[in-house]
Amino acid sequence: MARIELRDVAKRYGSIEVLRDINLEIQDGEFIVLVGPSGCGKSTLLRMVAGLEPISSGDFLIDGERMNDVRPRDRDIAMVFQSYALYPHMDVARNMGFSMEIRKDPVADRKSKVSQAAETLGLTKLMDRLPKALSGGQRQRVAMGRAIIRDPQAFLFDEPLSNLDAALRVEMRLEIARLHQKLSATMIYVTHDQVEALTLADRIVVLNGGDIQQVGSPLELYERPANKFVAQFIGSPTMNVVPVTGTDAGVTAGNGAEIRLPDQLLTAQAKELGVRPEHIDVVDNGTGDLSAMADVVEHLGSDTNIYVNVEGIGSMMVRKHGNIPVKSGERLGLRIQTENAHLFAEDGTALRRVA
Ligand code: ADP
Ligand code: MG
Repeated sequence: MARIELRDVAKRYGSIEVLRDINLEIQDGEFIVLVGPSGCGKSTLLRMVAGLEPISSGDFLIDGERMNDVRPRDRDIAMVFQSYALYPHMDVARNMGFSMEIRKDPVADRKSKVSQAAETLGLTKLMDRLPKALSGGQRQRVAMGRAIIRDPQAFLFDEPLSNLDAALRVEMRLEIARLHQKLSATMIYVTHDQVEALTLADRIVVLNGGDIQQVGSPLELYERPANKFVAQFIGSPTMNVVPVTGTDAGVTAGNGAEIRLPDQLLTAQAKELGVRPEHIDVVDNGTGDLSAMADVVEHLGSDTNIYVNVEGIGSMMVRKHGNIPVKSGERLGLRIQTENAHLFAEDGTALRRVA
């Protein structure tokens, strides 16, 4: 097991800086998810931890020991990639045990470890199969088995579920969560999918353009995003953000509507109001904070998504639990649950609550 530290880590390719000021302390046994849009530097960061990519500056430590210049195979870290990278001519058992085979570990040891990992991952019946005779999910399990067998101090996953279909992704996500409970090893998991981040992580690290935007538990990021980027990246459907002018007691929207906000929200510097689709109530037309017209209504059974147009503001989205009998073209009132509202300053920073 391992405690991993990154101190002022940066990565440059020539004059291009792709990661900067990365400071992160990962506790022993913690499940950390790095999340962010494509190209933000997630894989690069993970590859530096694995030793597959040199660190341009800063320090990388495992259990207090500087590891920057330690070779990948001496770092005692196992990585699982999006492309499973299995050996096509080896069966499942040999693919899983190959690292022990090249290390010339005793055959009996290897056999027992392989069968134990196969048991954990539900692969026992597939040991003689070649990768080409496996489904995507099974191949991904073999790749995980190969990592487990090394019994590493830490596991790194780079978008391991991206090649799987939606149903299988959910199933494998659960398996990874169970695997973490069982092994209680330190895990760093990279994804661009905020749902995977919210469901798997002890703590999430949100990256954008090579910078850490925020580090926190899933609920911290959902309830207290540090800025507009995190606010709109975490949570689905995306948070509505509308331009406003801050007043003493609340904000005024572009169409002149005044929205009173709780005292503990600092409203004076507010330039934008953020409100999640699930934090808007549908009320009778003429009441509430805003008057809107229903555009597209999606009935999902469990929820209703209502896309609305608000005159002078633009389109917004409302999500209500259950089946709400709203029709396209209907006029509605919207009431904002102001206790769950967010305010952003000119530069996108979230205005802190006083209380
Ligand atoms: P992510 O995994 O978040 O999608 P990456 O870590 O793969 O992003 O890439 C981060 C940035 O670094 C991207 O802008 C990418 O173009 C750049 N990059 C990655 N590898 C190289 C390289 N070998 N040379 C130059 N730029 C690179
Ligand atoms: Mg990547």
